[in-house]
Amino acid sequence: MNKATIASQISKVLTRIEGAASLASRRSDEITLIAVSKTKPAEAIEAAAACGLQHFGENYLQEALEKIETLHELDLTWHFIGPIQSNKTRPIAEHFDWVHSVDRLKIAQRLSDQRPAHLGPLNICLQVNISNEDTKSGVSADQAPELAKAITTLPNIRLRGVMTIPKPSDDPAEQAAAFEKVVTLFNTLRHTNPELDILSMGMSQDLEAAIAAGSTMVRIGTDIFGARNRS
Ligand SMILES: *Cc1c(COP(=O)(O)O)cnc(C)c1O
Repeated sequence: MNKATIASQISKVLTRIEGAASLASRRSDEITLIAVSKTKPAEAIEAAAACGLQHFGENYLQEALEKIETLHELDLTWHFIGPIQSNKTRPIAEHFDWVHSVDRLKIAQRLSDQRPAHLGPLNICLQVNISNEDTKSGVSADQAPELAKAITTLPNIRLRGVMTIPKPSDDPAEQAAAFEKVVTLFNTLRHTNPELDILSMGMSQDLEAAIAAGSTMVRIGTDIFGARNRS
């Protein structure tokens, strides 16, 4: 996609975010747009940054590190949103500002141990698996409170909230039901951790339902950068 197309895609997404926020009587400035740039070149990220976007999400470590290096002069905020192998935590702790895909204690411990002190705490979301039997990623709603409790004792990471990837659906009622379950869990976690402030949910297909349910970070790939060749 060329620069002009990316700019017009971004403006459509921003209009959707504003429309959904307004329908839910919410302020659109409490919703952060993360542009998911996996498989897309650094030039595409540069084009999105030129439109004012600040937050970028990546899933694959090696290509992410290359883009972070190429674009280091832009002041961007990097979110790791993909599955994490425990032997890959160090570069994630060193090069990212946020990690949305933490679903077990061992990963959280390693990220905390490996986070360079001068960068300050790494922001973390727990990935929760509410509706999607197709993937093993994510902690179950039953186990999330215990994991959250253990994670909040770690010194160099800061638990901010939850992230979810619901089972893909184009039925708004089904989308809403999945997000409502996540919100219920989030509210439960907030009883013990009132500082939690992030609901990372909503992708190209379901951003309206996510915002209606209370999302504070939406992660949009396809509708900004176009379809991907590999998933
Ligand atoms: C790829 C991906 C996205 C973006 O999905 P689109 O449907 O392309 O908007 C969002 N979140 C996660 C975790 C992803 O892996």
